[in-house]
Amino acid sequence: MDRVQEAPKVVLPTDCKNLFANRASRMDALAHVQDGPMGPYLGFLAHVCRAQSKVFNQADAEPVSPALLQNSREHGMPPVADLVFNRAAQWRADLKSLLSSLAEEDKLEESLRSEAKAFVAHLERDPNQVESLADAILTGAVLENTDARRVPFVGAALQVYFTRIAQALPVADVQNADVQSLCPCCGSRPTASVVHMEPDRSNARYLYCSLCQTEWNMERVKCSSCYKEGGIAYLIIDTDPKAATKAAVRAETCDDCKTYLKIFIQEKDPLLDVMADDIGSLALDMLVDEKGYTRTGPNLLLYPGSE
Ligand SMILES: [Zn+2]
Ligand SMILES: [Zn+2]
Repeated sequence: MDRVQEAPKVVLPTDCKNLFANRASRMDALAHVQDGPMGPYLGFLAHVCRAQSKVFNQADAEPVSPALLQNSREHGMPPVADLVFNRAAQWRADLKSLLSSLAEEDKLEESLRSEAKAFVAHLERDPNQVESLADAILTGAVLENTDARRVPFVGAALQVYFTRIAQALPVADVQNADVQSLCPCCGSRPTASVVHMEPDRSNARYLYCSLCQTEWNMERVKCSSCYKEGGIAYLIIDTDPKAATKAAVRAETCDDCKTYLKIFIQEKDPLLDVMADDIGSLALDMLVDEKGYTRTGPNLLLYPGSE
């Protein structure tokens, strides 16, 4: 007798060089169909994701200490959470490679290439300021002006650095986290959730980490922030009721805590990518914001004020 296979609790990222390259292609595809300023912005991010793909294999994953891994196995503490894990200078080397690659990208607009070049100079002059900026981004602090414009570069480099670590970890080391709203590997908030169509996790919902690309299972129709089920509703952009069952992108809103997070239905659009499609559907964020719900998870490629 076959047993019904249980969907895995945690799915760590694999084949990330391709993951970032595929994301770049999706950014490009969405850039072509977006009206307004988001089209060019997605085009810019396609270059950023291609740079992430390039930089990904240029270094090995930072080792995680046995003590942190033991703490994770025994007490469910995410082993590379900001509180317990000190990121090494390698992430700044990743940032520099990423910026240098963008500065040389002749298909990128001249002003953005200069911006990347100027940021390399700043990074060499004042690494401590860039470390503080990374801390601010990881804690979700409000940023302005130059710092805000640098969010997608820093976010992309931090993603490369932390995704390498996640890819190298044995999944058994991150199975026991009990704070379901946070990534079991790095303790960050999810960008969105995805209902999968792959056979081993068909119809299961996974939260998708904003930083390290780890996914973790959470039952459907449940608030990913307060865990209540009673006040859940789904909003989509299209007002035609017939569109509701077809929409690949929905906002899962909770009336108990007045928050929301997007949920992507892969079966409705197999090519979707959480980071790309999240930015490609900012109109839905505006609609949900207007109804008084606050978004719970960030997208590290989006600079504040770009929506
Ligand atoms: Zn994570
Ligand atoms: Zn809630």
